[in-house]
Amino acid sequence: MTARIAFARIAQETNALSPIPTTLHDFEASHYLEGDELMTAVTRGREVAGMFRRVELAGFIAAASERRAEVEPVPILSAWAPPCGPLSRDCFEALESRLLDGLRRAHRESPLAGMYLCLHGAMGASGIRDPESRLVRGVRDVLGGAPLIVSHDLHGNLTRARVEAADAIVTYQTNPHRDHARIGQKAGRIAIGAALGELRPTMAWRSLPMILGGGTTIDFLAPMRAVFHRIARAERRGEALAASVLMAHPWNSDPELGWSTVTVTDGDRGAAEHLADELAELCWERRHCAPPPFLGPSEAISAARGAWFARRFGCVTIADVSDVVTAGGPGDSTHLLRALLGEAQGLLTYAALRDPGAVGVLWPRVIGERVSLAIGATLDPTRSSPLPVTGEIIGKYDRHGFGKTVVFAVEHLRIVITEGPALAMRPAFYRDVGLAPWRADIVVVKNFFPFLLYFLPYSRKTLFVRTQGVTDFDAAFTLAFDGPMHPRDRVEDWRSRDRIRRGLAEGSVENGPGMLAHVAGDEPPGGDGDTN
Ligand SMILES: [Zn+2]
Repeated sequence: MTARIAFARIAQETNALSPIPTTLHDFEASHYLEGDELMTAVTRGREVAGMFRRVELAGFIAAASERRAEVEPVPILSAWAPPCGPLSRDCFEALESRLLDGLRRAHRESPLAGMYLCLHGAMGASGIRDPESRLVRGVRDVLGGAPLIVSHDLHGNLTRARVEAADAIVTYQTNPHRDHARIGQKAGRIAIGAALGELRPTMAWRSLPMILGGGTTIDFLAPMRAVFHRIARAERRGEALAASVLMAHPWNSDPELGWSTVTVTDGDRGAAEHLADELAELCWERRHCAPPPFLGPSEAISAARGAWFARRFGCVTIADVSDVVTAGGPGDSTHLLRALLGEAQGLLTYAALRDPGAVGVLWPRVIGERVSLAIGATLDPTRSSPLPVTGEIIGKYDRHGFGKTVVFAVEHLRIVITEGPALAMRPAFYRDVGLAPWRADIVVVKNFFPFLLYFLPYSRKTLFVRTQGVTDFDAAFTLAFDGPMHPRDRVEDWRSRDRIRRGLAEGSVENGPGMLAHVAGDEPPGGDGDTN
């Protein structure tokens, strides 16, 4: 008899500061598959149409194929939505009941021997604390004692409830992420080994009161390179089945937020604890390493103007770090756009903007028509203001994920205005609407670091620009935490909070209103606030 192992995904990265709720429509318009359709996508098609060919679930299928005679993979559902605000309660509960109903049905047909569940790890839902742990607990209730293996993005936040309900948690080991399928395969091998009684997954973890550090946090650059080398060595030498560092997404409303480490061994509790501890120390040592310096828009534009050599042989890439759509920014900020319009005359500039209202106005018009209207700041009107422009419609496209898209030429700007999330991270965002990156002087991206890889063939100079928005690092300082948080506050030691969070010590965490209610613009009370 074969071991039936279920697999499913519910994944979204939530920015708790975004005013735009994530709805069931956002999942269904981006990626939503169940049962046989899901099986076809992960075996013969594209796993996440328009985004990824082979990611975690295809990796899980590869692990199952290695044990074809002994394992039957059982597809439940896969739902993915772009980073945005918290899921509405209705959306979360609909996904939860579809997942658990599907799982119960499969379990009734013939008992399941285990499950692989792919979650982002930083998903929020309106009015529900730690919604992903609720999913893991719900699955645990259906599975009983059968092994449950969970994977996360390395920007996830670990909590005690999740660690207690899962048998093993594994995460990406690359940033920018490029090992999704490998992590799915690793999770699959652990799930299969445990289901067949060959492995006894034993997990240890540590939680750090730290939301920023590690420089650019890129896995192959200092200062994080040594940490990821240590992880790779531990797995290669068999010290652990899996070792992970989670550099948490900071705009998360869970008060027990922070970086964490998690290790999984085959039955060796001591080795798991030792390695999780060592990795936590390595992270804590890197807490003061700041990200690259961010410029103001005017400084960046004059730097781009001065970089004539870079512009001649490629483009200057400007990352709008205050409105990073891949970290849940609305993508409708006009701060940088206004500066580019006023100060970058003569520099051919590609920019992205999400404005469903403006698309509604422009879409019925013909190509070549000139139109005057105000664009931007419609999704989050509190952080920037609409920009009045007159321009010409030079292209119209209907694209999966981005929705209706209008290319609007305003003087030296080519603005790609989208109905859906303006995920301007890859050159294809512009190339697919007729804007070749090598022809531009300036290309704006709404992304922190992955674009560095994607734009390698084009970008000759990169500038990070800060204005004001929900993905400013210090915007996270307004969130409520369970006590002092590095780098907002001075934190001398990570171990006492770690012990409380892991349930090993009584909670003596400061919970006063002063600690919970920092407002934007407050100076960090400690001396450690130099990270941004
Ligand atoms: Zn991530």
